[in-house]
Amino acid sequence: MKSGAVIGSPISHSLSPRLFEIISRVEGVPFSFEAIEVQPGNLKDFMEDAKKKFIGLSVTIPHKEKIIGLLDGLSNEAKALGAVNCVEFLEEKNKILSVGHNTDVDGFKEALRESELSIKGMNVALLGAGGAARAVAYAIGALGCSEVYIFNRSEERSLKLVDDLSSTSKNTKYIPANLKTEIKDVCLIVNATPLGMTSFDTKEVDLLYFKKVFEKISKAKGTKKTNDTVVFDLIYKPLYTPFMKMGFENGFVEKNGLKMLIFQAIRAWEIWVGPLQNKEKVLRKLRRDLVKPERIFLTGFMGSGKSTVAKTLAKNLGWTLIDTDKLIEERTKLSAGETFLKKGESFFRKLEDEILRDVLQKNKTVIALGGGALIRQNNLCLVKDAGVLVYLSAQAKTLKERLNGSKNLRPLLAHEPSVTLEEHIERLLSERESQYEEADFKIETDTLTDREVTSMIIEKMELK
Ligand code: NAP
Repeated sequence: MKSGAVIGSPISHSLSPRLFEIISRVEGVPFSFEAIEVQPGNLKDFMEDAKKKFIGLSVTIPHKEKIIGLLDGLSNEAKALGAVNCVEFLEEKNKILSVGHNTDVDGFKEALRESELSIKGMNVALLGAGGAARAVAYAIGALGCSEVYIFNRSEERSLKLVDDLSSTSKNTKYIPANLKTEIKDVCLIVNATPLGMTSFDTKEVDLLYFKKVFEKISKAKGTKKTNDTVVFDLIYKPLYTPFMKMGFENGFVEKNGLKMLIFQAIRAWEIWVGPLQNKEKVLRKLRRDLVKPERIFLTGFMGSGKSTVAKTLAKNLGWTLIDTDKLIEERTKLSAGETFLKKGESFFRKLEDEILRDVLQKNKTVIALGGGALIRQNNLCLVKDAGVLVYLSAQAKTLKERLNGSKNLRPLLAHEPSVTLEEHIERLLSERESQYEEADFKIETDTLTDREVTSMIIEKMELK
């Protein structure tokens, strides 16, 4: 059986063994992978033995730079960055050679590609100048970004990054930045510091500095407060981070680092084993199983049973129940429907977005989502990144029967009094169906009780 390992110190927190176990299972390729604590003083001896045992290694803190002197060759990226996070052992003429790669570069590029952001000719703000920041700086240079503003605590490290990377991309200018630097046209902000990461001692004062950086960026000429500006936090623990929140508060779209983690591991697998045969399935499994889901979101049309099922499910699991429409009621002292009618759609949606982001920061929760909460594509991505999304479906006829007499009916019918309720539900359902179908799985509830739906969710998610 092929085998590999991740080395570092400390290493017990690493998600890599789980990552490669999932890939190996879905691909049907036996592959054992372990996490090994290697102290800096033992790295040389370890590498001598490793080439006889493993086909490859993942490398993490504190060995990413030191390991270079122990390798026989480097990929272009690893050479340019001066950092290696993946080692490949190759047999050549009866000798085993070691080659260092940096898969964070491809991992970041692939994760960014998913957000469909075009950065060519635009500018990027990079927070941090450590190993991960270097990989990001190199990747965005390769993608044709025009200027990269580097905000880092120690200026010395930003200057070194600029020095080392300036020759790697002829169209990209790397600029050490501070609160006085003139910046413009920012379409992407990347956090490559550990601030906000679970287990990192994050000081409020450090975050405060970056809050000011965000304010500066949001006011900069040419920066759009829409889906065209993305805040990408490399952190994935927690899944919703303080930097993502700062992004939202400034009107930007937020992404966490989980996809980058997944894509850099896939790239390593491709180097060691070869191209993935079941890429879509691997991605689905990794997203679902890598981080044990601590949030279950229920979506579906009004009347699909979200609130009742959420209550039963939360009780069954001993998790907290959150009903986003109820939170709207608490904040506005009006029902969700009345809030929509009296305060207007944009007020309602903004409040719904804020509430959703608060929810993303809570663990072990079952969340009944408002019927239109996932209309915004970014909300859908955030929810799917943070937990498992279940679609409770029902036919228009069933929904009409369940909704008869409900006080939330008025806003639903407000705009078109001439059509019947069933016709109106049917129309809205057909408009929203494709968005609901993006859920991780669907349960047809027409003939089921809430207890039956609950049991099916628990069974499907293998929670008991
Ligand atoms: P690193 O080489 O140690 O660099 C850390 C960077 O953060 C440096 O620029 C450092 O600034 C800055 N920093 C540290 N503490 C700070 C503080 N209190 N206030 C302000 N700035 C501070 O670490 P790294 O390997 O680049 O990793 C950085 C983050 O990226 C980590 O959270 C890591 O988990 C994440 N990451 C994620 C992925 C992924 O796949 N999603 C991949 C790689 C890394 P100074 O230069 O002033 O010290």
